[in-house]
Amino acid sequence: MDHRDVELLAIGAGPANLALAVALEELAPDLAARSLIVEQHEDVAWQRGMLLPWSQSQVSFLKDLVTLRNPRSQFSFVNYLHSIGRLDEFINLGTFTPYRLEISDYLAWVARSLSAVRLEHGRRVVGVEPGDVVAGQVTGWLVRFADGGTVRCRDLVVGAGRDAYVPAQFATLPRERVVHSTEYLDRVGEFDPRGAHRMVVVGGAQSAAEMLWSTHQGFPNAQVTMVMRSIGLNGYESSKFTNELFYPSFVDTFNAAQPAAREQLLGEMHRTNYSGLAPSMLENLYRTMYLERLTGTERLHMITMAEIADARLEADEVVLTLLDRKSGRTDELRCDVVMLGTGFVKRMPALTRSLAAAVGVDDFTVTRNYRMTLPDSITARVYLQGVNESTHGIADSLISVLAIRAGEIVGDLLADRQLSTADSRPRSDAELLASVPHPA
Ligand SMILES: Cc1cc2nc3c(=O)[nH]c(=O)nc-3n(C[C@H](O)[C@H](O)[C@H](O)COP(=O)(O)OP(=O)(O)OC[C@H]3O[C@@H](n4cnc5c(N)ncnc54)[C@H](O)[C@@H]3O)c2cc1C
Repeated sequence: MDHRDVELLAIGAGPANLALAVALEELAPDLAARSLIVEQHEDVAWQRGMLLPWSQSQVSFLKDLVTLRNPRSQFSFVNYLHSIGRLDEFINLGTFTPYRLEISDYLAWVARSLSAVRLEHGRRVVGVEPGDVVAGQVTGWLVRFADGGTVRCRDLVVGAGRDAYVPAQFATLPRERVVHSTEYLDRVGEFDPRGAHRMVVVGGAQSAAEMLWSTHQGFPNAQVTMVMRSIGLNGYESSKFTNELFYPSFVDTFNAAQPAAREQLLGEMHRTNYSGLAPSMLENLYRTMYLERLTGTERLHMITMAEIADARLEADEVVLTLLDRKSGRTDELRCDVVMLGTGFVKRMPALTRSLAAAVGVDDFTVTRNYRMTLPDSITARVYLQGVNESTHGIADSLISVLAIRAGEIVGDLLADRQLSTADSRPRSDAELLASVPHPA
């Protein structure tokens, strides 16, 4: 089995850890050379399940992996466009929000452009446990992979995204009848494009709307129905005033705010990021429904203020029990497949919770610098990226804060190393460096 030692291991090659890799290369080249990123997939892609060709990023391209921290960086989105010869055309398009495909390609380009941080593909982490224990102190982690390999590291950064939320009602349906948005593009090909499917999309936010539109367009003989709890589809709240709360500098304010204020901020900011749609999508869907009614060819349906109380397979069809919130009555909706635009689990991801459990911790948070709060007996560090909305604000899962956050994490790692050199910690950087295999 493959085993190796590194100083810093980053789990997941999504935007968060790619921003970290860039920050390492620019701010801490020595540590960068002793760092490894592992990614479960064979390539780098952004939100691969929803990489629909017409979908756009909702954040300015200037909030890329690096520009807000270092506008002169070679890893900027503008340099990416320049290096692939599309800068003129992008400028001419006149937009701040690139296609999702371009962001994804930009991420892959950044990954290819790294010169010091190593990136390994096809490596899915399945567990983390204490690795080195010196004089009763945990000074490193042992990370286990699905392929049976292991990596021992001193510090860890988890940037593995959030866990998909599949409501309990759908848990007993056979897998081939339920598609979560995170796997949409991987699985939509399982259905015959000419089939007269009855497809139900659950949810009323952007991912649900994108699946609704995509299935409507891709399955011209299908009936597609959206079921949502809300009173109807709504647009993103996009005031320039509240958009200031996505500045990386607002993280300090949020982090220092009292619990009631944090709650208010998250509550009032909810529709800036969740449960809203881009204006073009709202218009597309409304006009399509209007035209279908006009021409008597209705295929796109919406059921509002409805709760799906139960889902079961009966003969060859999925039967959904819908509770109408207005009347209190229940009804049945029969379909062939359910697409879930139900988002992500709010609590910490299972991988992080199991790491905490492995060191006897069941409740944890992170410091201002994203370091997991662990008992004093654990000197090895764990940083969590993208899962700290409750302490760092609504932008935490977004691209907006990545560049600055990556710099802050690198700063914290370096500060720790300066301290530990003074303290003559059990394993010095030089020892760790010596233990890292050099590429052939
Ligand atoms: C459909 C959709 C659209 C979005 N659009 C925007 C937008 O326009 N603007 C914006 O700012 N944010 C957007 N977001 C929010 C999104 O969370 C961030 O843009 C960003 O992807 C977060 O980056 P991340 O690196 O934290 O997580 P992710 O992007 O989820 O990346 C995590 C990476 O870790 C890998 N991984 C996971 N588990 C393991 C494991 N066990 N072992 C190894 N590798 C693992 C994954 O394969 C993945 O590559 C969108 C989210 C969705 C779902």
